[in-house]
Amino acid sequence: MSIQTIVIVGAGQAGASAILELRAQQFSGEIILIGDEPHLPYERPPLSKDAILQPEQTKLEILSEQKLAELNVKVIRNNAVVKLQPEAHQLVLQSGDVIHYDKLLLATGGSARRLPMLDALGQHVYTLRNLEDSQKLIPVLQPEKRILIVGGGVIGLELASSARAKGCQVTVLEQGAMVMGRCSPLNLSQFLLQQHQRAGIDIQLNTKLVQAELRDQEVILTLENGQQLTGDVVIYGIGIVPNADLAREAGLDVDFAIRVNQYCQTSDPDIYAAGDVATQLVEDEQYRRIETWENANKQAGIFARHVMGNPLAQQTPAWFWTDQLDMNFQFAGDMTATEWHIRGEMDIEQGRNASFVMFGTRNGILVAGITVNQAKEMRHLKKMIAKAQPFDAETLLNLAIDLRKVA
Ligand code: ADP
Repeated sequence: MSIQTIVIVGAGQAGASAILELRAQQFSGEIILIGDEPHLPYERPPLSKDAILQPEQTKLEILSEQKLAELNVKVIRNNAVVKLQPEAHQLVLQSGDVIHYDKLLLATGGSARRLPMLDALGQHVYTLRNLEDSQKLIPVLQPEKRILIVGGGVIGLELASSARAKGCQVTVLEQGAMVMGRCSPLNLSQFLLQQHQRAGIDIQLNTKLVQAELRDQEVILTLENGQQLTGDVVIYGIGIVPNADLAREAGLDVDFAIRVNQYCQTSDPDIYAAGDVATQLVEDEQYRRIETWENANKQAGIFARHVMGNPLAQQTPAWFWTDQLDMNFQFAGDMTATEWHIRGEMDIEQGRNASFVMFGTRNGILVAGITVNQAKEMRHLKKMIAKAQPFDAETLLNLAIDLRKVA
């Protein structure tokens, strides 16, 4: 059966990337992009950083109206899909319209995980997921404002860094024993913690929030150890919940996220899922959900190639980055590597000028790499990880040897 219509639900990174990939794979049929936001697809990584610090100079657009027209995409925005009917191959929209598909991609992303205790603070509490959330923070982050950030993950630390750059007084509350605990090895997490402290950010680890209240326009957070913290506002970033309800209600295989196979296909072969909403089969019964910009693009590519019956691209190591305190951190490969080796100096005294590379190994094989303010080396690290290169300390830790030459 020839595919006439492909519908993409979700106008985020995965959705936008899927459009480009489908056309790159020579799909010439109809593409319909449906998004519930009023915007065309935009970049999310800057929302916690440049979109707050220099909104005028920050370009967020991924696909312009003109580009979408050139790609011959029909865009439906400000309209949510409220029902997915797999047997009829159709979607029902909030507007009442019914859209038919031959193949469907669910790229609906996730929503900020809510903490009702904090939501009860009303206009004193913020989360960050979309453009409006980011824009709302701009007037909030004024010099000397006391900002309490709950969650010391990527979003929490990026926001702490932005708030500090705006001259705010910042406290971060993290329930775990380390910052960026989900995705950073311990020694880098400690380095990050020290950098934030050095920048004047108060980070409290191993904290458990037991109460949040408002007194005379001040927020008071009470911790399990009895300590109370006072601030003007709370911003929290404690992870996301995949927007998987449509799929769940339609009877697809969904756990916390939508389960997909190595081709990004759900339990219905005509329905695919990609990005934050998807959890992908990686090996025997093991599923993994990867919340990164790059993974959204990769899975969109897998979807497009599989739909078109084309071979998949060669796999590359997972990759993500974060910008904090004027420093760039990039991560590739498997962050659960058992040993880490440092090329250069992990010197906290150098502050934001610190610059080094980390190699992660398991059984003597290079499985991961991190660059700190050395983005240009990342390409070489990825290459070495993809080749599962044996780790040779004498060469790789020798600053006189160019990594490009040994990758
Ligand atoms: P995000 O992308 O939102 O930053 P992460 O998973 O990277 O998501 O980080 C979320 C962080 O929030 C984790 O470090 C987690 O331990 C922390 N966290 C989750 N719930 C709470 C809570 N109730 N109080 C403080 N920290 C929390």
